[in-house]
Amino acid sequence: MKIAIIGLGLIGGSLAGDLTRLNQHQIIGISRRLTTCEKAKKLGIVHQSSTDLSLVQGCEIVIICTPIESTIPTLAQIIPYLSNTTVVTDVASVKAPIVREGKKLWHNFIGSHPMAGTAEQGIDAVQKNLFAHAPCVITAEDDEDRVKGALLRDLWQSVGCNILTTTAEIHDQAVAWISHLPVIISANLIYSCLQEKDRLVREFAQKIASSGFRDTSRVGGGNPELGLMMAKNNRDNLLANLRLYQAHLTTIINDVEAENWTKINDLLTITNQNRADFIK
Ligand code: NAP
Repeated sequence: MKIAIIGLGLIGGSLAGDLTRLNQHQIIGISRRLTTCEKAKKLGIVHQSSTDLSLVQGCEIVIICTPIESTIPTLAQIIPYLSNTTVVTDVASVKAPIVREGKKLWHNFIGSHPMAGTAEQGIDAVQKNLFAHAPCVITAEDDEDRVKGALLRDLWQSVGCNILTTTAEIHDQAVAWISHLPVIISANLIYSCLQEKDRLVREFAQKIASSGFRDTSRVGGGNPELGLMMAKNNRDNLLANLRLYQAHLTTIINDVEAENWTKINDLLTITNQNRADFIK
């Protein structure tokens, strides 16, 4: 198949590389900067690369891997070059607004979200096998979408993803819980620690911080641009979850204040028993 990937950063570049190494497709890489296109060619992650969006002409699949806010403007620009059967997808971490606008512009637009990544960005962050064993959500609003998504299912599976299909709305509500809320909570943890007024205590905490703090602070210390984009584009779901989180936090504060250790123990027992349902 002839496949175009637009946006040769962490996700687009890694996907291009994995697909090129399969030796089954012709991979066209398109990016904003010429230096990135040249680097992609040098790294051998694409067969052809350019800044020219008209290169999507003749492709069976186009995957838009630009930052979230450029996804729909990019789709609008490539429409004149698409053939009627071309399937277009994206990789944005938020799906409802993208799928809603994408479907208005192109009849064969289906959303994807590979749940893989690192804290790095750009073509220098490209990794081999980034998608191995990662869940990849393909959105489907109806049976017609499920049929159209078959081509994408095969593509994501070929780079090692485990496919899950659901509506864009359910996807966004679920990622608000397991991805977007954790980013804000983790960021607030780091920020709160920085507010320690006693410099000696703060600096000593920084010296002894180890694996526990590394785990709990990882997502809050990542790429600010990506976190902000998630919050802006999934605002309503994030806000609802933050309010629920705030209510639970108030209960916890009250229980600690009242030395209600039985209730604190109950909470920690429930979380100890149920974490495994999220982390398989
Ligand atoms: P990234 O590393 O910054 O890559 C995006 C690349 O797109 C940039 O390196 C840039 O390359 C290029 N670009 C920017 N604007 C463009 C435009 N208008 N036209 C063409 N190319 C453009 O970001 P990423 O982490 O790969 O994220 C890309 C998408 O993947 C986002 O929608 C994000 O939500 C989604 N996603 C990210 C992760 C993650 O963990 N990072 C996980 C899953 C999904 P040049 O300027 O160098 O050409």
